[in-house]
Amino acid sequence: MGHTSVSSRRISPRGSPPNLRRTPPKIRKILVIKEKRAAETEDPVMDELLLASKLKRVDSATGCVSPRAPSTDIAPTVPPTSTTTATVPRPTQKAPKTPYVILPACDTFEKFRKTSRVSVDIGGTLIKVVYSSVMDDELPEEKNGQKRKYAYEDGKRVLVNFKKFTDLDRLINFLREVWTDRKAGDVIHCTGGGSYKYSEIIMKELGVRLQRTDEMRSLIYGVNFLLSTNVDESFTYHHDAIGLNKFQYRPIAADLIYPFLLVNIGTGISILKVDSPTSYERVGGSSMGGGTFMGLGSLLTPAQNFDELLEMANKGDHRNVDKLVSDIYGGSYDELKLKADLIAGSMAKCNRFGETPKKQVHKPEDIAKSLLLMVSNNIGQMAYLYGTRYNLKRIYFGGYFIRQDPITMRTLSFAINYWSRGEIEALYLKHEGYLGAMGSFLDEEGKLDD
Ligand code: ADP
Repeated sequence: MGHTSVSSRRISPRGSPPNLRRTPPKIRKILVIKEKRAAETEDPVMDELLLASKLKRVDSATGCVSPRAPSTDIAPTVPPTSTTTATVPRPTQKAPKTPYVILPACDTFEKFRKTSRVSVDIGGTLIKVVYSSVMDDELPEEKNGQKRKYAYEDGKRVLVNFKKFTDLDRLINFLREVWTDRKAGDVIHCTGGGSYKYSEIIMKELGVRLQRTDEMRSLIYGVNFLLSTNVDESFTYHHDAIGLNKFQYRPIAADLIYPFLLVNIGTGISILKVDSPTSYERVGGSSMGGGTFMGLGSLLTPAQNFDELLEMANKGDHRNVDKLVSDIYGGSYDELKLKADLIAGSMAKCNRFGETPKKQVHKPEDIAKSLLLMVSNNIGQMAYLYGTRYNLKRIYFGGYFIRQDPITMRTLSFAINYWSRGEIEALYLKHEGYLGAMGSFLDEEGKLDD
């Protein structure tokens, strides 16, 4: 059962997750990895709305509203360091135009100043890359405590960059261009099914060794790192609010993060109950995820890619193709508390059996909208059930399917809120699609593929 969502508006450019920091000043040196723009079209760099520092922060643990500044005494909880590599002199480089985050200046990340770290998550649909670079110019928004937190004594900062690809050749070409200091014996961190399937190609083409991290472990490391390091990583979505109030940052103290449910919506869905960075269980999953939305969407509409399909969905009116409670009862069904606009049967109005002549024509936009609601409602309901089953109060949604889309987030949040009567909270992540790649980037104990 779902709700109706008649008029939805995209508020963000689609593509990459929003940056944590504003675009850096023009003149900046970047060492270690050469950031050369690939020929392919760039993703939008950031979502200005989500970046806006004016967004309300509501503490996830206490519910207190505060415009507080990010804390300055962060101790990142990442796996222990075990590798060191010799420094190779590198040319001055341009500032990144793709999204990045700045790592806190601490011993754990010191090694990334001397040698590049590259990690890839090769999934069923997309390839996500996370890689380091070093920048030694001032960032305008870094003041006092902030500066101390991010800059090493010599002023250098380590950036983590995010990029996605749809095919392996492009990924390899990109890495050949930007990973200039790589040498035989270096390691590329990998996760996802493609880290098995394409391991030989990757090693041969890049001339490096491959270190694999288990997919679930990568997800947990990634989400743990982002939640504990980036104060504004997670947020809630409030469709009926106006303007910036639609989003609320939900910071959470590192010691209060656990337990939670992680619902990762990629090609398929994985549902993880997470008790700590090292204690987690994949408690469920579903094959009806982002791959289903794309697959059915390309069968049923003329959309040529995910963005077009999502765009269509945002313009559509699902009431033309879905049967609502009102289509069956003539209004609401009060005995069961079913509202008139509740979806009773997804795409049930498309049934043409028995029609002579077969006359119905449905708009692709309406079909796309119905499809998106169908997939999202189903995930929302399932997430709620797992949340209740394990008595978890926070559900984080990850995976590239979400794309910070208002229909998707509204539907998921509605389902969680409606069924749990406000007891469980649906939370979203700025780096939703990069959890696995981020975790693999941090993992020091992956298995070498020789
Ligand atoms: P996986 O690791 O299985 O590839 P992801 O988290 O990368 O999973 O999510 C893949 C899903 O993201 C796709 O099935 C699709 O629904 C959605 N998606 C979002 N943007 C795109 C895009 N530009 N191209 C393809 N799929 C996209």
